[in-house]
Amino acid sequence: MTKQRPIAIDIQKVVKRFGDFTALKEVSVSIGDNEFFTLLGPSGCGKTTLLRMIAGFEDVTAGAIFLYDQEIAKLPPNKRPINTVFQNYALFPTMSVLENVGFGLEMQGKSRAEARRQAGEMLELVQLSQFAHRKPSQLSGGQQQRVALARALAPKPRVLLLDEPLSALDMKLRKSMQLELKHIQRETGITFIFVTHDQEEALTMSDRIAVMSAGEVQQLGTARDIYENPRNMFVADFIGDTNLLEVSVDKIENGRATCHLGGGHELTCDPVAGVDTGARVHLSVRPERLFLSSEPEEVESLRGRVVENIFIGTDITTILDLGVGPQFRVRASNSDRGNLRVFEPGQNVFVNMERGAARLLVD
Ligand code: ATP
Repeated sequence: MTKQRPIAIDIQKVVKRFGDFTALKEVSVSIGDNEFFTLLGPSGCGKTTLLRMIAGFEDVTAGAIFLYDQEIAKLPPNKRPINTVFQNYALFPTMSVLENVGFGLEMQGKSRAEARRQAGEMLELVQLSQFAHRKPSQLSGGQQQRVALARALAPKPRVLLLDEPLSALDMKLRKSMQLELKHIQRETGITFIFVTHDQEEALTMSDRIAVMSAGEVQQLGTARDIYENPRNMFVADFIGDTNLLEVSVDKIENGRATCHLGGGHELTCDPVAGVDTGARVHLSVRPERLFLSSEPEEVESLRGRVVENIFIGTDITTILDLGVGPQFRVRASNSDRGNLRVFEPGQNVFVNMERGAARLLVD
C-alpha cells in the first residue's frame, strides 16, 4: 500500500466472542482505498466473522472499525456504503437479470428508468448485456455469479465484500473469474475485501493479503512478500509448497547461522531476530529454489537419494530422501528442458541451494 493511499477500512484491535469462544483476538488491519485486499486462512480462522462485522451483520465485542475515519459500530448494515457478494449468489429467482441488478438502485430511491439504465451499464461491465431479460435459473453458475457481482456493484458502494464468491465454480471458470474480478476492481476503483481459503486465488488477485489462523492475523503483506518472507511456520506451510526441516542452530558468526539437521547434514543461512545459538527451530526452503547435481556445486548443498520424479506438465518434482526428517521436494520447471537433468530413483545426488533460499522461522 502506498503512503498516500487513504485508509478505507481501519480495523483496530477487534475482538469477537461467541459465548466463551473467542473467534477473533485483537485483530488490527488497515485496508487502503482502492485496494484489492484478501483475508486468507483455513476454515474456522475467523475470516467470515470479520467480514460480517465490517458489513454490520455481527456486533464487535471489543475494539473498533472505521470507514474513512468514521466509526461504524452504530451504523446499521443498510446505512453503510458497503455491499456484499455471497457465495450462494442470493439472486431473486422471479426477477429478470436486469431487475435483479436494478433492485438495489430502486431501493435507494432511483426511478425505475434510471435504475434500469444504470443496471444496464453494470451488465456491460460484467459482459452480460445479452442476458438482461433472462431469469437467473436460465444462466450458468458463472453467469449467475457475475449477476450477483453486478447487483452488488450497481449502487456504487465504497467497499465491496466478497465471501468466497468463486468457490462453487469449476477450476477453469474460477481462474478466468479471478482475472475478471481483478480487472473490475481496477476499473471501478472500489475497495474489494475478498475472503478465501485458497492461497493460489489470494496470490493471483490481491494487492495485499492478511494470512489468518485461529482468530489472529499471522502476516500482512503483498503476495510476493508473504511468499518469499514468511514470518512463521504457519505462513510458510500455508502459502505455496515448502520443505520444512527441524534444525538446531549451532553458531551465529559473521552474519551467518550454522545449523545442523541431524544425519550429518549441516548448512548455513541468514540469521533472524529471535533465533539464538542453541535454538531448535524450523527451516523452510521452497522446492523451486533448489537444484540437483551429481557433483557438489559452489553453494550450500545436502546429499540425498532420489525416491521418485513426478511430472505434472509445467514442472517436474523430484522427491528425495535425505536420511533425516520428512521427504524433501525439489522442483524444476519443464520450460528449462535444455538444462534440466532428471535423476533416476535410487541415484545419489547433491541438493543445492543458493544463498537466501533457506529461511529460519520463528515458530
Ligand atoms: P470458513 O472458511 O469455514 O467459512 P471462516 O474462517 O470464515 O471459516 P468463521 O465463519 O469466521 O470462519 O468462524 C470462526 C469461528 O467462529 C469458527 O470456529 C466458528 O465455529 C465460530 N463461529 C462463527 N459464527 C458463530 C456463531 N454464531 N456462534 C458460535 N460460534 C461461531
